Formats: sequence, structure tokens, C-alpha cells
Amino acid sequence: MTATLVRIWPGGREFGNQALPPMSLLHHCVRCEESCCKGRTLVRRDEMELIRATGHPDYSRRWSEDIHYLDHGPCAYLQEGLCSVQAVKPFVCQIFPFVPRAELGTWWLYLVSECPAQPLIPAEFITRAVELAKGTLKAWDLQEYESYWNENKVGDFRDDRVRLLIPVYPHQFIAHSREKVKMISATPIAVPGCVGTYVEVIGERPGFQVLRVSVENGGEIPLHAHDCAATMVILEGSARTLGKDGRRVKTGDVVVKGIREPHGFTDVRDGFSFLSISTGEGILQGSDWDLNYV
Ligand code: SF4
Ligand code: SF4
Repeated sequence: MTATLVRIWPGGREFGNQALPPMSLLHHCVRCEESCCKGRTLVRRDEMELIRATGHPDYSRRWSEDIHYLDHGPCAYLQEGLCSVQAVKPFVCQIFPFVPRAELGTWWLYLVSECPAQPLIPAEFITRAVELAKGTLKAWDLQEYESYWNENKVGDFRDDRVRLLIPVYPHQFIAHSREKVKMISATPIAVPGCVGTYVEVIGERPGFQVLRVSVENGGEIPLHAHDCAATMVILEGSARTLGKDGRRVKTGDVVVKGIREPHGFTDVRDGFSFLSISTGEGILQGSDWDLNYV
């Protein structure tokens, strides 16, 4: 059969008769030569059944009962540079340029830099990617996926191209991390220049550092920036963000800041705390802070 193409050009025009999937980066896609559709793409058995049910051939190969994949080279569903199964494309395609990883006992979304549309991702896309991942990954077997990754993806993936890391289940990460991540310090350290603010170093690995930051009611983290990018996942309480996108954030929200992008928190309530996951050498380097007030 001839699949119906959905054409979506930068700017958001749609053509064709398929509905858009729940989320897609296509509104920002510049259709680069890098092409996200040339690697080995994971497609779960139930996702493949959905693709078949919409009248498309099954091009997948079986890795395990639940895990199948579309092999290297241009994806068999790519037609004239466009995805012919747009409305039912796999989870990993929907969340790209986020990539799911199973590490340190929990699920993560890694944001990769290969995609030129990556800097254009709106905050809403990030929030929806995390929500979609929460709903999807709870049904996946973490260890099976880790094995699949080690066998199939390691050669494709470069850790030095990771821009941000977001734990999908942050509390699960905290519970597991004390065993699986090298602990640096579990004693809260006062943050210079902030009011009523303390950090606990949960751990670090080459390329990223994880801090738990707690702010007492009435405390404040003034507007500042880092020489590294940082993902902040709100664990408890709420606060108002400082900077150009000032808004109230609460448990489960994710705040993403690029290198030297000013941010801060004020009007904190209900025992505000968050995970701060920074790239590179991290925000706290020995007794030195990568912390510049603006
Ligand atoms: S299913 Fe569609 S989006 Fe996913 S790799 Fe294939 S062509 Fe690309
Ligand atoms: S890598 Fe990004 S910009 Fe390039 S084709 Fe894929 S989604 Fe579009």
C-alpha cells in the first residue's frame, strides 16, 4: 500500500490526512542531513502492532519478545524525507531529540545535541516529553532496556554530545543513587550568596553532577548563572522562578537552563527542594562554586 505522508514544514503547516501524534518536534524540524531517522530505532512490540493495524508493513526485527527495532540506514518508514507513520510513530521518535536511558537504577531522558532543532525546543515540549516518558517507561523493563542499549546503541551514541539529563522518576533516583553513584557529601552545605539555601551532593559521574538543593521558607536563590547547563527537577514545595520566564513551579516541574542563562527562585513555599543536574564539571567543584550572580 502507499502510505499517506504528513508534511509539516517549519512554521507548523500540516498536509495529508493523518492526525498528528500526541507530540512531535516536527514544527521545529529543519530536515537536516544529520537525520534522526538513520540510526537503529527501538520499536516495542505493541507499537509495531499499532503500526501494522494502520495498514503499514512490518519492517521491524526482533531483539526480544517486547523489544524490536528498525535497523540502521534510512528507516524503512522514511519516504521522501518524511515519516510515513507519523501518527503512530514509536515513543523514541516522538520524544527525539530526547533519548531514553536506563542508568543508576532509574530512567533518564538525555537531550542530544545532534539535532539542529534542539535549541528551539519550547519548555512545553520538555514538560510533555517528561510526562509521556513517565507514562510509557513504567511499563518497560529497565534492565532489559539497559542490555539492549549496551548491545545496540553504544556505538551510535556519544556521551559528550549530551546537553541535558532529566531523571524521569527523580525520587526513585534519589533512593537508588546512594548505592549506585559515587557519594561526595551527604552534609548540607550553605550556598554563598543565597538566603536559607543548602545543597547536598548526591553524586557525580564524568560529565554530570547531581545536587539536592533545599530552600527554607522565606529563603531565596537570587538571579545567577553557571558556566554549565543545568536541569532542575522540583521535588517538593513551590517557588516563583526569576529570569525572563518567571512562573510558579511545583513538585514534578522541570526547569531547564542553558550555559550562562540567568535563573533563580523566590517566594518559596512548603519546604522547597529540587534536584539540580549540571553538565560538565558541575556547579560545586571541590570548595569552588560555578555560581555567578547577575
Ligand atoms: S518511524 Fe518515522 S520518525 Fe521513527 S525513525 Fe522511522 S521514519 Fe523516523
Ligand atoms: S535531526 Fe532534528 S532537525 Fe534534523 S531531521 Fe531530525 S528532527 Fe529534523
